[in-house]
Amino acid sequence: MGKLGYDDTPLIRDSTYCVHDPKRPAPRVVVPADAVGQAPADAVVLFDGSDLSGWSSVSGGDAGWKVEDGYMEVVPGTGDIQTNAHFGDVQYHLEFACPAEVKGESQGRGNSGVFLMGRYEIQVLDGYENPTYADGITASVYGEYPPLVNACRAPGQWQTYDILWTAPRFNGVDLVSPAYATVIHNGVVVHNHVELHGPTGHRDVYPYVAHAPQGPLRLQDHGDLVRFRTIWARPIGGYDEG
Ligand code: MG
Repeated sequence: MGKLGYDDTPLIRDSTYCVHDPKRPAPRVVVPADAVGQAPADAVVLFDGSDLSGWSSVSGGDAGWKVEDGYMEVVPGTGDIQTNAHFGDVQYHLEFACPAEVKGESQGRGNSGVFLMGRYEIQVLDGYENPTYADGITASVYGEYPPLVNACRAPGQWQTYDILWTAPRFNGVDLVSPAYATVIHNGVVVHNHVELHGPTGHRDVYPYVAHAPQGPLRLQDHGDLVRFRTIWARPIGGYDEG
């Protein structure tokens, strides 16, 4: 086989490689899962349906939610839970289901939440034919951005979130660069690299407060019997420049 590229080409901007450079390292191989949504070979599996060993109560101690039939379910009153593993820039996949038996309305119906770095909430809600304020519907960046569209499935059905998260950067107490989120709900893009302006609040806005470069994935106990399954993460690194 001949040389795999060209060395008589111009340099790529901001790179030490030329166009089609044969010396540029090949991307690392990741074996994808057999089915879309399942964990690829290099994923950090955060919940495989068997137990909550990778999770703790946010208020301390063991996670109090129940596990059965391959999913976890909120036990109201036990509080939010979070992963013991912490992440910075990361890809998440998770699946959730709101109760098949519809109770309540607006924010009182199938409410939970996915808190990135424990602070920034992607809302979980039964938003299927359930009017509520736009920046609090399912898949909203709560209190800041409604989703581009409402891609909810009916109550009781499993739904997916795929989230690409860029962590905020701090220099001491100063914000250097904000957080960005891209969110795909049931295969539909609902946020495209939106800039967050601070941590999530309720009926208020908050400025960034400097925190560690990595943080946990936190799930909310909002008193509703929301279920989660198939939760995994892949830290996002830079291009392998060898
Ligand atoms: Mg919530």
